[in-house]
Amino acid sequence: MPDTCEISVVVPAFREEAALPELVRQVVAALESASNDWELIVVDDGSADRTWQVLSDLVAKTPGLRGIKLARNFGHQAALAAGMDAARGRAVISMDADLQHPPSLIGPMLTAWRSGSLVVQGLRHDGEGVGAAKSGSSRLYYALFRTLTGVNLASGSADFRLLDRSVVEHIKAMPGEDRMFLRGLVGWLAYPTTVLPFECGERVAGVSKYSLGKMLRLASTGVLGYSTMPLKAPWAGAVLAGLAGIGYGVRAALTQEPLALAMSVGLGFSALLFATLGVFGAYLALAVRHLRKRPPYLVETSARGEKSAKTAA
Ligand code: UDP
Ligand code: MG
Repeated sequence: MPDTCEISVVVPAFREEAALPELVRQVVAALESASNDWELIVVDDGSADRTWQVLSDLVAKTPGLRGIKLARNFGHQAALAAGMDAARGRAVISMDADLQHPPSLIGPMLTAWRSGSLVVQGLRHDGEGVGAAKSGSSRLYYALFRTLTGVNLASGSADFRLLDRSVVEHIKAMPGEDRMFLRGLVGWLAYPTTVLPFECGERVAGVSKYSLGKMLRLASTGVLGYSTMPLKAPWAGAVLAGLAGIGYGVRAALTQEPLALAMSVGLGFSALLFATLGVFGAYLALAVRHLRKRPPYLVETSARGEKSAKTAA
């Protein structure tokens, strides 16, 4: 097996025995018409159904298809990382197994890449297949993520994207935990991005493999990984309790009410406790930023005025 090819498509699959045959058929057709040097990597994320058997049968009769089986269910993002690590392509496309990410977008993604784009991001436009609750909560989450992290992540940024090899290598060099919310990392790396909208339809087969628990874990991994803002929350409590304590203090001074005095003292101690938590939070945030081991900045480009022979002399 040569160590590079033009295009890799990486697909994490968890309990997708029903979807895989149609996925492989459609993705192979899209790749055949776009390139003669491609591979399709399907990562079985520890499925307990017949996903691996179905995949092995497909591999046996599909040149260019590779299968990887993880030891257990590590989750979508980990399976994606495993597929990207195995990918040899000069461009690597990730997409879901259920055809909610249309293979018809592969051609336009490659066109954008061939004309110089390093990142081509599929932007989900929710169609009939996505419920109002899911699409509303997703929009709310992305807005919160942008506010808390300062990373510009557009609503509907799915894990349907093309990455140039240079970007893949950059991602592989980042700490493993960063790769557990890949869309955040790609946003954080901030490569110039071409955005291609797509309509997210119904699953081709089966039901969603993202349980509420998995969804919440992904959402919290994103915020916890890219923001330390929640650790500042105790300061709001300190200010509120402090102001209320002062209010009761003034009232106690004016009216001599014992209850107002007691409230004032209690709230004063609460404010002190909140402030102590805020100080703990500040140290914790500093430690967390150290642990992330992310570079403090990324240079996009640089320019230098060359000294001419005459001035240099
Ligand atoms: N998936 C995975 N491991 C998991 C859960 C999901 O590899 O633990 C895969 C799944 O097979 C699919 C993709 O992640 O290819 C997205 O999952 P799904 O389509 O079920 O999520 P939804 O579209 O409902 O958000
Ligand atoms: Mg899906």
